[in-house]
Amino acid sequence: SQIRTVRTRFAPSPTGYLHLGGARTALYSWAFARHHQGQFILRIEDTDVERSTPEAVQAIMDGMHWLNLDYDEGPFFQMQRMDRYKSMISKLLEQGDAYLCYCSTEELNQMREQQREKGLRIRYDGTWRPEPGKTLPAVPAGVNPVVRFKNPQTGAVQWDDLVKGPISINNEELDDLIIARADGTPTYNFCVVVDDWEMEITHVIRGDDHINNTPRQINILRALGGAQPVYGHIPMILGPDGEKLSKRHGAVSVIQYHEMGFLPEAMINYLARLGWSHGDDEIFSRAQLVEWFDSTSLSKSAAQFDPEKLAWVNAHY
Ligand code: GLU
Repeated sequence: SQIRTVRTRFAPSPTGYLHLGGARTALYSWAFARHHQGQFILRIEDTDVERSTPEAVQAIMDGMHWLNLDYDEGPFFQMQRMDRYKSMISKLLEQGDAYLCYCSTEELNQMREQQREKGLRIRYDGTWRPEPGKTLPAVPAGVNPVVRFKNPQTGAVQWDDLVKGPISINNEELDDLIIARADGTPTYNFCVVVDDWEMEITHVIRGDDHINNTPRQINILRALGGAQPVYGHIPMILGPDGEKLSKRHGAVSVIQYHEMGFLPEAMINYLARLGWSHGDDEIFSRAQLVEWFDSTSLSKSAAQFDPEKLAWVNAHY
């Protein structure tokens, strides 16, 4: 069998500073690529035009630069790749793996309301989903349709998660995801699939807040004819109180530590250990991290951020 070069990516949404969680995701993707003599790609996911800012793009790049997380390709910007997404949406429509849905917001709300009343799972009911022998409703005038992916209704999606182990999701649990909005713009989950495929990403390492997207993305990727990458979902970082790490917990953006005079190598060391370990080693060099960084030592449980420990590492580095 052919051995592919390992290619990982960091795909931040530029909506704020590079926080510790994002930096750790970037670090793991970077270290995994470097460990395997592969390539690391930076992709800016800026399709949320309301919340994306050039300052945030700069802050992410500054943070990565400070931590010396060098990338081999990019930054790619999703907003500059709209033509690619649109042509892939056309391809799915032509293949019959996607369809136009003319349901109005009111109809969708009504649908949800009825499902709620009956105690059913809230999902798109397939009104516009073409099936052999089925007659579709008449196309309403003046409505711009969304495009939905025709998710398989039988079988299961499976992957062996680098962190969490084997996962299997029944297709029955997934409904027909919107892949293009009424104004023609592609949705987030769709762009990710096209990008991971076209950028030949072999290992998708990201936060486990994305784990519900993964089976949907795999189905879309299959319909496009792409090969499934390996996925690894790393648990969130929690604050000292066990809640999801946020500004309430003090300095959580990487650049704040830069400003406070922390050593980037100490930060790398500390972040590496928040969810990964190498025996009892506490202080190690970047070269050692690259040498040792394998996915088998990634922790399945959420790590807790401890500012005192970070200060300790910084003092002992
Ligand atoms: N842009 C997403 C985020 O910032 C990451 C998506 C991914 O890694 O697939 O959370």
